Amino acid sequence: MPLLVMKFGGTSVADLDRIRKVAEKVQAEVDRGYDVIVVVSAMSGKTNELVGWVEATSPLFDAREYDAVVSSGENVTAGLLALTLQERGVPARSWQGWQVPIRTTSQHSAARFVDIPRDNIDAKFAEGMKVAVIAGFQGLSPESRITTLGRGGSDTTAVALAAAFGAERCDIYTDVDGIYTTDPRITSKARKLDRIAFEEMLELSSLGAKVLQTRSVELAMRYKVRLRVLSSFEETDENSGTLVCDEDEIMESKVVNGIAYSREEAKLTLVTVEDKPGISAAIFAPLADAGVNVDMIVQNISEKDYGDRPGSVTDMTFSCPVNQVARARKAMEEAREAGTIQYDELIVDTEVAKVSVVGIGMRSHAGVAARAFKSLADENINIKVIATSEIKISVLIDRKYMELAVQALHDAFELEQA
Ligand code: ADP
Ligand code: ASP
Ligand code: MG
Repeated sequence: MPLLVMKFGGTSVADLDRIRKVAEKVQAEVDRGYDVIVVVSAMSGKTNELVGWVEATSPLFDAREYDAVVSSGENVTAGLLALTLQERGVPARSWQGWQVPIRTTSQHSAARFVDIPRDNIDAKFAEGMKVAVIAGFQGLSPESRITTLGRGGSDTTAVALAAAFGAERCDIYTDVDGIYTTDPRITSKARKLDRIAFEEMLELSSLGAKVLQTRSVELAMRYKVRLRVLSSFEETDENSGTLVCDEDEIMESKVVNGIAYSREEAKLTLVTVEDKPGISAAIFAPLADAGVNVDMIVQNISEKDYGDRPGSVTDMTFSCPVNQVARARKAMEEAREAGTIQYDELIVDTEVAKVSVVGIGMRSHAGVAARAFKSLADENINIKVIATSEIKISVLIDRKYMELAVQALHDAFELEQA
């Protein structure tokens, strides 16, 4: 039997009515002759609520218990969808991650797949089951604890299953009808793309476009999974949505194809650290150990003369997600107490956001950065930190200007026009 993987996100399973709509879409594929693996998220808002409960109970929580709690939303929707399918006469059953088992590493809340044995699910398909409903986002560690794959992780569950089962396609059903040049919630000028290259999608995702989890794109690229994003609310067919594919499957491409943003960023500056070999390692190792995901890093030499501090000093600026600031501060204070680093002050700005311009065409076109900076300057938006790579330019700016910056950049690169 040909096999399809279909994934439904939080808004697509937000209530029993929507779950019925999902069941209709799944049944339509069964009627077309497919065996189907369905991956579901928690009902929309549920995971946030669970995260809130954990944080309110224990601010610097034990990550294993965090995963035990926040993974539970998916269990409910998996069971409900299996029941809904059964009510429609479709042979279906649910699986939680550990039952498959979806084996992962033990990096809690950021676990990676180790192995997904097919036997259990294959055996049920062989017995005549048509739909395997699998709780997304969760797995099982070598220590037999429940793990989660990071926010948005159900996308990655879906792609991993598509790879493991050699699915014909992995369809990600969501609340938008495809991948756009930027988040359509930020500007109505955003344009839907028919196709997008893996590499561009990888950058957009890792820079904040949450329509697909970064790892899901990475896996699809590595295992050559045909990955598609489409609407769970509209009628769809084989040509609906956006296909994520190899660069050479795309005829026309612009220099810049997308703008991403990440709203909840923080900028931290260690003022007057010693400028000597090993200082970066002394700062960033404890941050990594504390689970802080450092993103941009800038080291700028202080011109000021610090008479009481022998040797030259430097300021070290880095960014991380806002909700990791407490961990970062603690890690830095502990390192200072232990004497491995010295600094006068830790300045924290929790009111920043990151906006990024992405395009494969940047590899061969000059002037993209200048054009981006000019468009921000025209809106009087001050750039606090800049980072570039081969196919992206990112800037850290005041959060209150984030939407404006996205719109200005979208206009500057004429993304509205195909
Ligand atoms: P789901 O719950 O289905 O996983 P998500 O909320 O994770 O859905 O992802 C879908 C959302 O991603 C859309 O509602 C949209 O606001 C946002 N988004 C961000 N960037 C883009 C983009 N470039 N194209 C489409 N959607 C985007
Ligand atoms: N429910 C999880 C989250 O909200 C996983 C997912 O939806 O993909 O992040
Ligand atoms: Mg998602």
